[in-house]
Amino acid sequence: MDDEHALLIDCGLFQGAETSPEGRAGAGKLAIDFSLDGIKALVATHVHIDHVGRIPYLLAAGFKGPILCSEPSAKLLPIVLEDAFKLGFSRDQKQVERYLKLIEQRIVALPYKQWFTLIDTKQLNAHIRLQRAGHILGSAYVEVDLQYPETGEKKRIVFSGDLGAPHAPILPAPKAPYKADILVIESTYGDRLHEDRRSRRARLEKVLEHALSNQGTVLIPAFSIGRTQELLYELEDIIHRRALSESAKTQPGSSASKTNGVPALDWTNLPIILDSPLASRFTSVYRELDQFWDAEARARLAKGRSPLAFRNLLTVDSHQAHLAMVNRLTQTAQPAIVISGNGMCSSGRIVNYLKAMLGNERHDVLFVGYQAEGTPGRQIQRFGPRSGYVEFDGQRYDIRAQVHTIGGYSAHADQLGLVRFVTHMSAWPNEIRLVHGDKPARRALADALRERYVDQSSDADILLPGIDEETGMG
Ligand SMILES: [Zn+2]
Repeated sequence: MDDEHALLIDCGLFQGAETSPEGRAGAGKLAIDFSLDGIKALVATHVHIDHVGRIPYLLAAGFKGPILCSEPSAKLLPIVLEDAFKLGFSRDQKQVERYLKLIEQRIVALPYKQWFTLIDTKQLNAHIRLQRAGHILGSAYVEVDLQYPETGEKKRIVFSGDLGAPHAPILPAPKAPYKADILVIESTYGDRLHEDRRSRRARLEKVLEHALSNQGTVLIPAFSIGRTQELLYELEDIIHRRALSESAKTQPGSSASKTNGVPALDWTNLPIILDSPLASRFTSVYRELDQFWDAEARARLAKGRSPLAFRNLLTVDSHQAHLAMVNRLTQTAQPAIVISGNGMCSSGRIVNYLKAMLGNERHDVLFVGYQAEGTPGRQIQRFGPRSGYVEFDGQRYDIRAQVHTIGGYSAHADQLGLVRFVTHMSAWPNEIRLVHGDKPARRALADALRERYVDQSSDADILLPGIDEETGMG
């Protein structure tokens, strides 16, 4: 902000190879490799690990400032950091508790849409305001207003964080900011357009129907926060509508229970298995904070439905129960849907399912999220349909299970959504920095934005930090 004051927006772990300009994340990348001098505060846009995963290292490096985030994020963040601490530092319960206490003292929950004074000196007035980003519960984009009383200079910088897709379930879509002089915007899906929600849900239903007709398991690798809850929400709706139409069909005298001699899929009793203790905890917070849901989700609630806690939903907690579930589903021919993490199959419980099930054509893997280059998820996605293999722990696993991808299912805005975030502003930025995306995605978004500026006969510096040789973030 000036020579003495800096603001840190997010402090995450790199996921996969392409999301970090330096290449693959290694242990060395965890350490804080920048100076903490002058950093007055950390703003956490949302609690995905690639945005907050390095907070433990930041604190270990001596960062003393507050961690600013939205009210829902303030509830989710300790859960995420507890997990990160257990993975990276210690599982000793006393240490974990001490650490959580420290975290909770640092967190400052900011209500959405309200300005917060960060710095108020003769040289600099800095205010920040969080707005809903529609990406996951608690996600925010950050407006930073800087005024330099001595020179009279003013500027507004907007950091998008991750932006949600307009048709994402559960949360309302993000609205464009009023204005920005400088915009730092994500570009994960800068080169793609999503399907609309209705056809995406129809495809989900079709894949599930097909996959489950051969008495197998559908494995859905999903991130604990966001996509898991969206999926549960869509599954509840599919089951709800199927149950309604089944009860209409099975009036006395009708024989709708069999088609071509194959027992029809019993949607009402189809188990949806959430095998991720972390995802279960997040799902509870999502349920608790229903005041942040969108109109559709709240209407379902008002009708007595439980979009995130329905009868078919089974949660698996202990590691033993998890192993038992893997065995049971491998050995029986009971159709089931399993949601387990992590989302790119690089570690976590999903790996046990994949090892046990990839070799059998009875099972299906359904990708609903972004698979970064270099992750097993990407390998399965690419080589699965060609009867290829994937490696886990140095061992080859042949892929005979069917592999599907439902591309439109995503918690990120697509190119159109990202472009609108800019063009729906009253005053467009004169500098845009594209971050958080593969090179092709960033280049495509840059081209799309340049085109809109040309249409408006205006101009902006559109920078791709790490790709062109512009220096990093300010
Ligand atoms: Zn995110």
